[in-house]
Amino acid sequence: MAEPYRIVENARLDARNTFGVAARAPLLVEVADTAALPELFGYAMLRDGPVLVLGGGSNLLFAGDPEGTVLALGGQRIGFVEDDPDLAIVRADAGVEWHTLVLWTLGHGLAGLENLALIPGTVGAAPIQNIGAYGAEVRECIHRVEAFERATGELQRLDREACAFAYRDSVFKREPDRFVVTAVEFALSRTPALDGSDLKLDYAGLREELAAMQIDTPRASQVAEAVCRIRRRKLPDPALLGNAGSATFPVLSPQDVGATRKLSAAWLIDACGWKGYREGDAGVADTHALVLVNHGTATGAQLLDLARRIAESVAQRFGVSLEPEPRVIGAAW
Ligand SMILES: Cc1cc2nc3c(=O)[nH]c(=O)nc-3n(C[C@H](O)[C@H](O)[C@H](O)COP(=O)(O)OP(=O)(O)OC[C@H]3O[C@@H](n4cnc5c(N)ncnc54)[C@H](O)[C@@H]3O)c2cc1C
Repeated sequence: MAEPYRIVENARLDARNTFGVAARAPLLVEVADTAALPELFGYAMLRDGPVLVLGGGSNLLFAGDPEGTVLALGGQRIGFVEDDPDLAIVRADAGVEWHTLVLWTLGHGLAGLENLALIPGTVGAAPIQNIGAYGAEVRECIHRVEAFERATGELQRLDREACAFAYRDSVFKREPDRFVVTAVEFALSRTPALDGSDLKLDYAGLREELAAMQIDTPRASQVAEAVCRIRRRKLPDPALLGNAGSATFPVLSPQDVGATRKLSAAWLIDACGWKGYREGDAGVADTHALVLVNHGTATGAQLLDLARRIAESVAQRFGVSLEPEPRVIGAAW
């Protein structure tokens, strides 16, 4: 795409969300160069109207069509900002596929993102819900987030503190209409301890997987490989079965974070008998009770309806309230 941006009217979004549900954007703006954002947000449609920034659509449920404008960032650059013997600062455009960045950093001998291998989506979305997996969260490696602030029309560089990260949360998630994330800088280690002592291996199943790979003292790239092997076994591939990863998590006391929170949500849903449930093409994965799946032609509204009924049954039986992890578009939870 040579021009800085391209506008498509009445654009189909079916292939732009991992549930694979049908949706249309009244206006889709594909932005190749984020330098065009001040101009674009000068137009009334974007300045005053609703704008949805869309990455890989792997944490969204289109229960209806989005209103207003959908903005998709296409930048694909990855490069070094600093490259010292111990620590490197790597900057990646928002449009880069997350796993591509993980492989790039590992290929350049950098450690830090290995536990987050194979999470679907884009770099720009990673800070939004502070993606996490296998005992790591992306905030641990984020140096700065570069974001276009819609109200001021200025490019901001937010350090880790300004991002106000928490479990699956950040300032970007709490104030979804404030920023468009244009790039992220990561601080990554170039000289991980030779004995692997600074790698995070404590998450259930990780050491066992490395043992099965006959690796005693893993390197970061081998941890990533182990994570990929486990994920491929456990989670349905959205290219084959539409889903958005974990569909819900329970609202519990602040101490119950991370794995406990996810495990208990899966356990509660399973205990209510939903694992493997199917109703038309909407269902729950038979491998993982947290994952809602589209077997083919389910609509977003059908998936949302199923998610609500699952949450109701858990609330009735256990008194625990579940919240959706994906952002629901076009309907209220
Ligand atoms: C099979 C599967 C497994 C998953 N596993 C995990 C996991 O282990 N851990 C985890 O944390 N998540 C997981 N997820 C959820 C998802 O991969 C992440 O939330 C991912 O970061 C979403 O990226 P995306 O580009 O697809 O974002 P989208 O779904 O397109 O958008 C998600 C949200 O971010 C906003 N957004 C996106 N890009 C920008 C931007 N540039 N600026 C401002 N806002 C933006 C959107 O408006 C929306 O609110 C999984 C999903 C699937 C399908």
